[in-house]
Parts: sequence; structure tokens; C-alpha cells
Amino acid sequence: MTQKQENKSSILDILTVILGIQELDMQMIQLMRLKKDREKELDSINNLKKKLMKQQATKDEEIFRLKTALRLSEGDLAETQEKIKKLEQKQSTIKKVEEFNALSQEMAQADRERNSREKNLSDLYDKLAEEEDSLKTIKESLKTTSESSLILEQEIIERLKKLNEEGKVLLVRREKLVKDADPEIFGIYERLLKNKKDRVVVPIENRCCSGCHITLTAQDENLVRKAERLVFCEHCSRILYWVQSEELEGTTIAPVRQRRRRTRGAVT
Ligand SMILES: [Zn+2]
Repeated sequence: MTQKQENKSSILDILTVILGIQELDMQMIQLMRLKKDREKELDSINNLKKKLMKQQATKDEEIFRLKTALRLSEGDLAETQEKIKKLEQKQSTIKKVEEFNALSQEMAQADRERNSREKNLSDLYDKLAEEEDSLKTIKESLKTTSESSLILEQEIIERLKKLNEEGKVLLVRREKLVKDADPEIFGIYERLLKNKKDRVVVPIENRCCSGCHITLTAQDENLVRKAERLVFCEHCSRILYWVQSEELEGTTIAPVRQRRRRTRGAVT
């Protein structure tokens, strides 16, 4: 628990500056989250496109392979048909029964071979038609995905650009505030923020630390109220402050309820 002796007004002044920086940092964290979400969207679109393109390439290869197989199969069939033609010519010149029987057997075998090669060829044609249909579907969905994603992609890129610009503005504003900040307390703040990625200078609400919502002791609450030094929540290490302090009046950390009451008071 780091504690520093400071007088009341300076601790509150210091915390007011830090609170201004903290608000900018919260906006920055929000921006970074949005940016990450947009980048994820962009990634998933690109991954889908990549997947479809890969499928298309695989189909292209498969179709090329089938076309090669078809060419070979057509050659095989032509060869068998040629063989049958020759056997038929030979048949007319045969005189001996034995020779005739042998030739018949050879012809029957060539017939079976032709049937099998025809079947093989027809299977390949069926397969090719199937693969070509499938390629067509992939190409169509790649086209629709590319078209619809193009709009979304450009939208996301525009939004990312805007987020980057907003981030730059925040950084400039932050730099100005940091110049006014107490270096030691700012250092503590930055370490806490890095650790928690959330508000680390928080008000006490109903005697609870509004960071971790654990009830504080009356003694701790008193120390915070006095604002003589920095007080950390014993449970979550956040820096605590007291909202009803006059010194914080009119700043972003003063509760709206209080400001309204004071405005009304001024009117009457
Ligand atoms: Zn706490």
C-alpha cells in the first residue's frame, strides 16, 4: 500500500487531472475493443473467401485429372473396338472348326473388355458432370460472397479509419492532460490501469469500493473523505476518492444530483 502525504486540496487536484486522463483511457480501451471486433469481422470474411478459393482450386485439379482419365479411357475403348473389328474380319476367312472356336472365345473376351471399358468411360463422364456441377456451385457462392463482402469490407475499413482518427484525437488530448499530472501518482495510475484495463480511480459508493464492490471499513472511508493522502482499496488496489468533496464540484466526477441541487440553489 503506497501512501503519500499531501495536503487535502492537492490530492484532490491531482486526482481530478488523473480522472480526466482515465476518462480518455476508457474511451481508448473501448475504441481498441471496437477495432479488434472489426478486424475479426474482416478476418472471417477473408477466411471464408480463402476457403472457397481453395475448394475451387481442388475442384479444378480434380476435373483436370478426370479429363485426362477420360482421354485415356477413350483411347482404350477405341483400341478394343479396333481389335473386335480385326477379329470379325478374320472370322470370315476361317475354315477349320478349332480355329473358329478359338476365335469365338477371343471375340467373347474382347466383347467383355469392350463392355467394361464402356462402363468405365460412362462412369468417368458421370463423375466429370458431377464435379463440374459442384465447381459451378462453388464459383457462384464465391461470387456472391465476394460481392457482398466487398461492401462490408469497405465499410469495416472505413470504420477502422475513423477509429484510428478518434484514437489520435484522444492521444493528443491525453498528452495535454498528462503534462499537468503529478508524475508519481500518474505512474501509479498507469501501472494499475495496465493491470486492470478498467477504471482504477473510483469513487466510494454506499461505503463500497465501486471498482470491486467490497465494503470498506469506516476508517478507510474516513481517510478517503479527508483526502490527505492517496487511499487504495485493500481488496482491489484501486485508488479511492470521495464524490461529495467541494473541490471536485463542477468536474466530470461530481455526481449530477449534487450539481443539480446547487444550480437550483443558485436560482432561488
Ligand atoms: Zn476495490
